Amino acid sequence: MERTQSQYCRLPEPPQRHDPPERDPNERIQDWNEVEVGYVKNQAEAEASRCLSSITCTYCEVCQLICPDMCITRDDATGRIFFDLEYCKSCGLCAHFCPKGAIDMVREAQ
Ligand code: SF4
Ligand code: SF4
Repeated sequence: MERTQSQYCRLPEPPQRHDPPERDPNERIQDWNEVEVGYVKNQAEAEASRCLSSITCTYCEVCQLICPDMCITRDDATGRIFFDLEYCKSCGLCAHFCPKGAIDMVREAQ
């Protein structure tokens, strides 16, 4: 059956984590100083905004409970949320009630 809804829901990809830079192994075997050298300012700001992001899904399952079409499932292995877009009718309830504001309603490509 051809889909007629004009938009679908999705979880944005979580921001990527950046590991702190480390000293060269050849250099650090010669002393007992810290291995990690710490972030420079822009790296620190990026990491801080990632940690404090309010749009990250916490897998609370509210969307799963609220969906009238039962098309949201949680992967038990990873805990991640999936939307079955074949059954989603784009009501937007999941996006409205998500306590983290983590669900985007995205217009489908024509
Ligand atoms: S309601 Fe929002 S935070 Fe909770 S599981 Fe669904 S998408 Fe994630
Ligand atoms: S609550 Fe509505 S918009 Fe969200 S997945 Fe279910 S049917 Fe789609």
